[in-house]
Amino acid sequence: MNVEEVLQKLVSFPVLGGQSNLSILNWIKEVLESRGVTAYLVPNKEGNKASLHCRIGPEVDGGVILSGHMDVVPVEGQEWTTDPFVLTDKGDGKLYGRGSCDMKGFLACCIAALPQMLEADLKKPIYFAFSYDEEIGCLAAPELARAIRTHYSETPKYALIGEPSMMEPIVGQKGIYIMETYVNGSAGHSSRIKQEVSAIHETMRLILWLENKMDELIKDNRIDDRFHPPHSSIHIGLVNGGIAPNVIADKAYFYWDLRTIPMDDIQGIVSDFETYCRQREKELRKIFPGFAIKNVEHHPSVPHLDTKADDDIVDLIKRISGNSKLDTVSYAAEAGQFANEGFQAAICGPGSIEQAHRADEFIAKDQLQKGMVMMNKLIEELSTAQFS
Ligand SMILES: [Zn+2]
Repeated sequence: MNVEEVLQKLVSFPVLGGQSNLSILNWIKEVLESRGVTAYLVPNKEGNKASLHCRIGPEVDGGVILSGHMDVVPVEGQEWTTDPFVLTDKGDGKLYGRGSCDMKGFLACCIAALPQMLEADLKKPIYFAFSYDEEIGCLAAPELARAIRTHYSETPKYALIGEPSMMEPIVGQKGIYIMETYVNGSAGHSSRIKQEVSAIHETMRLILWLENKMDELIKDNRIDDRFHPPHSSIHIGLVNGGIAPNVIADKAYFYWDLRTIPMDDIQGIVSDFETYCRQREKELRKIFPGFAIKNVEHHPSVPHLDTKADDDIVDLIKRISGNSKLDTVSYAAEAGQFANEGFQAAICGPGSIEQAHRADEFIAKDQLQKGMVMMNKLIEELSTAQFS
């Protein structure tokens, strides 16, 4: 199968983040096994989802992990002009379909290059590491990265995460944390606002605290020019509470996200916020003893990626991608999680992130071909005895 045929097959599995991925998983597993490659699964507790990893090449230290996710984002509410789960060639040099770019294009390159990998005289191994539930918070990658480190007797050195980057090496990624904050006040007639505790009024105070926190970080010159924007950001994306203008709201909640540059610490910022919440509770319980603020993790934090420009993986990716300009991103990806397991990690893959998550998502055919060129160059590199 060529890369477009593989991609066509991968796009036909409508596996969204959060859903069982056994259909696409089993297809990939069969392809690997039909070539004599043993695939290992890292299942979830319920057994309805699993990540997959395998080794191609010799059992020696220093290999390269190719990492990607099998799930995609929903298409509901988006105006698609083609069937999102049928890869469509409109004759304009682009292939349309959900996940074509994010990131089944890269998976297709890995799978399509498998015969060449098997034929080559690899001196260092290549590993596939395909995860699930990336789109709902990079949930499976920590366990998958750990499984790879502990399963094999040898230790891989590099992890290449093939998120769409127009084949540019990405060496930095912001840390990401999403929190839900619930405020419990007391209900009453609006005229009694000084005798009750409005959950809405307190919610607004918390939101302003968060905004001020972001501004303080900027004022303290916590700036990293590699990122756009160059500071940590805090944003409230959903607020809910109240029933009428003349009723004091006893309940309100909001969802917010925190995207940190490597020098800032997610847990530190969250713990400052918790301290402020406890202060407000102490103060307002004098008026209403049941006043409470509860913070709930929307999903576990995704660590930042901070690969140094002189790390060996940067050289390797520059050579195999043909691009030497380094960049950073502010979206969540699994690279920081592989780095936390001790692998040198960077992002580089075909397609543009601008096309991801949208109606009529596509990957340009020439990007897919560039992805294949990168695979072939990687095989060449790993077939030379000097590779380290
Ligand atoms: Zn992705």
